[in-house]
Amino acid sequence: MHEVTALKELLREPRHIFITTHHKPDADALGSSLGLAGYLKKKGHHVTVVTPSDYPDFLAWMPGNDEVVVFEPGRNDRQVQELVGTADVIFCLDFSSLGRINELGEYVRQAPGKKVLVDHHEQPEQFADIAFSFPTAAATAELVFELIRDLGDQSFIDPSIGECLYAGIMTDTGSFRHPSTSRNVHLIIAELLDAGINLSAVHRRIYDSHSEERLRFLGFVLKDKLTVLREYNTAYIAITSDELRQYHSKTGDTEGLVNFALSIEGIVFAAILIDRVQAVKISFRSVGDFSVSEFSRRHFNGGGHHNAAGGVSYEPLDATVKKFLDLLPNYQAQLVTAPLAAAPQQ
Ligand code: 5GP
Ligand code: MN
Repeated sequence: MHEVTALKELLREPRHIFITTHHKPDADALGSSLGLAGYLKKKGHHVTVVTPSDYPDFLAWMPGNDEVVVFEPGRNDRQVQELVGTADVIFCLDFSSLGRINELGEYVRQAPGKKVLVDHHEQPEQFADIAFSFPTAAATAELVFELIRDLGDQSFIDPSIGECLYAGIMTDTGSFRHPSTSRNVHLIIAELLDAGINLSAVHRRIYDSHSEERLRFLGFVLKDKLTVLREYNTAYIAITSDELRQYHSKTGDTEGLVNFALSIEGIVFAAILIDRVQAVKISFRSVGDFSVSEFSRRHFNGGGHHNAAGGVSYEPLDATVKKFLDLLPNYQAQLVTAPLAAAPQQ
């Protein structure tokens, strides 16, 4: 409660507010940012949302999207530096270490404005003046809802703000199926429904807006690129940069693919390794006790949540896949005994 009081004090007068979120924002990153931005604007603040990279087209419907500044080093450094440097308050949403926002991280670290972290990832870096860090929360959007409510302003949540927050909670809970989907989550959704959100519209815009090409790409990946390793209860997908080019893959086109690998009966650990040229980006998912955040932190410079994490490798794709495969025997005992029920929070 102490943090809420400090934040309330900070927002007592109209402020210049800078909101940012992690590299390649997903629906929780962008939804929590735009939901918070919508609320703060209604309170009379001057708000700018800056993302450290572009994000998928299926998020462009979110109210406030048109005003988002996408940071592209070499193109708009001056504008972004000015925005960070002159902000009274800098909100950092849905990431727990400044490394997750690339070059923007150093700008934020050095900026004089008060830094406010709102996040649900494990092991937060201590860089914020006020931190709302709750790794057991299902989504950062859930925390933003609670923050607005605890500031005494739930009545400010209109359908535009509510749909941004709903999108974040819906996607980060895997459409309300991950163990993080608490009673609290459902109660918040009830409040959002009361505020007038259209939940089927949000679902459709996010999940039923594939291009034909993306669906063909999915077919190719599932048919030709999926490897199942029964002896480790593991499945993985490795995609080369040529394959991405061949299918004209756009930002967001690979999102969710790893979940297909995890959806195979008996599989408790899934990975997708994608050659993004500058680096190999990896997503890990698990069900049950096996901690992918720990695995990713230890071996692939990453982190995230117990059952959903990401990491990076600067070796070529083949070498990265080999490293991944060579690690599996060390985890075989855990992977074959991992109980599927009673999984911890995502
Ligand atoms: P995704 O696999 O969907 O990109 O990410 C899964 C989860 O892990 C998300 O919560 C995301 O923020 C986090 N994550 C993804 N990549 C990284 C990374 O390179 N480092 C860290 N620390 N977290 C990551
Ligand atoms: Mn999140």
